[in-house]
Amino acid sequence: MNKKQIKWRNRIIIALVIFAAVMVVEETGLLASAFGTPGDVYASFALFLVPYLIAGYKTLLEAARNIRLGDPFDEAFLMSVASLGAFAMVLFPETEPHMAEGAAVMLFYQVGELFQSYAVGQSRKSIAAMMDIAPDYANVERNGELEQVDPAEVAPGTVIVIKPGERVPIDGVVTDGVSQLDTAALTGESVPRHVETGADVISGCVNMTGVLRVRTTKPFGESTVSRILELVENASEKKARTENFITRFARVYTPVVTLSALALAVIPPLAGMGAWSDWILRGLTFLVVSCPCALVISVPLSFFGGIGGASRLGILVKGSNYLELLAHVDTVVFDKTGTLTSGTFNVVAVHPEAGVDPDYVLSMAAHAESFSDHPIAISVRAAYSGEIDREKIAGAREESGHGVSARVNEHLVMVGNDKLMAEHGASWHDCDLTGTILHVTVDGAYVGHIVIADVVKDDAAQAITDLHAAGVHRCVMLTGDRQDVAEAVAARLGIDEVRAQLLPQDKVAEVERLLAGEKDGGRLAFVGDGINDAPVLTRADVGIAMGAMGSDAAIEAADVVLMDDRPSKIAQAMRVARKTMRIVWQNIVFALGVKLLILALAAVGIANMWLAVFGDVGVAMIAILNAMRCMRVEKN
Ligand code: ADP
Ligand code: MG
Repeated sequence: MNKKQIKWRNRIIIALVIFAAVMVVEETGLLASAFGTPGDVYASFALFLVPYLIAGYKTLLEAARNIRLGDPFDEAFLMSVASLGAFAMVLFPETEPHMAEGAAVMLFYQVGELFQSYAVGQSRKSIAAMMDIAPDYANVERNGELEQVDPAEVAPGTVIVIKPGERVPIDGVVTDGVSQLDTAALTGESVPRHVETGADVISGCVNMTGVLRVRTTKPFGESTVSRILELVENASEKKARTENFITRFARVYTPVVTLSALALAVIPPLAGMGAWSDWILRGLTFLVVSCPCALVISVPLSFFGGIGGASRLGILVKGSNYLELLAHVDTVVFDKTGTLTSGTFNVVAVHPEAGVDPDYVLSMAAHAESFSDHPIAISVRAAYSGEIDREKIAGAREESGHGVSARVNEHLVMVGNDKLMAEHGASWHDCDLTGTILHVTVDGAYVGHIVIADVVKDDAAQAITDLHAAGVHRCVMLTGDRQDVAEAVAARLGIDEVRAQLLPQDKVAEVERLLAGEKDGGRLAFVGDGINDAPVLTRADVGIAMGAMGSDAAIEAADVVLMDDRPSKIAQAMRVARKTMRIVWQNIVFALGVKLLILALAAVGIANMWLAVFGDVGVAMIAILNAMRCMRVEKN
């Protein structure tokens, strides 16, 4: 509990003790013997007013302020009117006094409110703890000594030192050292990752065993940590439909019950159906039960918990609306390269034209690809053993879905697929190996092709099986790669439909076609690494991006980000989403059900105010406890 809550709690405890003491003196007849009748009634009125005001003065002031601002209908208003009304029953001397109930309504309302504020604080705190990945400093070497500086002041390209036990403050590349990194806070993955010279490290991981020197590749503001924190902070702005519905519902509901309570208190006695005091009391009871706090608090809390739970699995959900959509996904569309496959291609073969040296083909390709970030380009560069002198390269151009072209040593080199060749009127030879074919031309003359093959991610088949088990009808794979490669991958993974040789714009059209075919509120998720597919990520109902390997554009465009690039996280995200929705609806049905029941009992005069206040606070507490279950997720 924070300081404010502790003060609040103490105030409630003092009020409860005084309340109990007043109950005792009243019930034991002490008051009656001291003040006689009807003096005892006024004495107990004054005495009950003490705990009432101690516990509830803030609520009364709030209600008064809201009335002044012309927006009176909220819980503070309902509770103030109901409790003041109960005290005012003293004006009917012929009926039993109801001051005790008036004070009790306020007291238990406060208990409920305190509990709410505690629960919200608790889940905020545990999300913050999960997200406690923000580093306080970076160690920079200056004049041979380590200095702790603000990570925001470290320029890209600076070498920082990360000691065992410290968090990586900024994304970068290891220049020296060997260590294990704990990535659990980012990915939910408990097995440490081995890193050595040349490895990329992302901020937010904890360095476990050895000292690392890292050359930063990004400023702090663009590093993984900062981006994640930004996403989580903005998540609460994107509200789910259910959440908005509850807010709107409360806005209409409160005035309606207030008016009904008024009608219940006034109309029957005017019609001569009984004593004023009876009906006024029923109206007040009605007000107490109808307080919507259980819903107003528990629904957002559930979504909040769901987002927090997902983040513990390394799944960032950018808003509760996406959690709601995820729960209804029945079609999942995958990009191939970098999503289902690791994006690291092995060179299977180099087939030069007669009289051409295979090394020449590879060298030209590696040079032409030297400015591209495409997984193919990275793999070709990795397969080439020689040095790449970037000075020799000019006019590098990338045509997405086709390939690249560049001037290498004043020769125009093109590397790409059939489409690229056809577009530029070059001839090419087909290859009977299964794989992605990179044709290479130099100054328009065909010099041969390189066959590369990518590796399916180890959990890709499991990911598809899990999705089918979770009720996803269709898993579709879209790729710009060749038909035979696409079919081979799809068959291995159990994909339902494949479309190959697609240009980026074809992928958008394909997703639009699938979207148009959705029925019964089913939703479509697209999963990609963002290389050439950022537009599709935006177009799908839910765009899911690979976070570790994916481009910044993908992480921007996506609604859900998988921090560790594992496609099997999609089914897990859907499980969290569905559990959250289940809990949200349980709370809505339970809270409304109990309230309607007590309302009905109150209207016919069976429920009294004691039942009403316990009903209200009890329902709120149960709903909140239920909502907090959303945060618990099994890691596997
Ligand atoms: P995917 O849909 O599998 O992610 P892309 O749309 O990124 O694939 O690329 C489709 C095809 O375009 C590749 O299979 C390759 O033939 C060609 N291509 C794209 N970028 C490059 C590149 N940098 N070098 C060579 N070929 C490329
Ligand atoms: Mg791709």
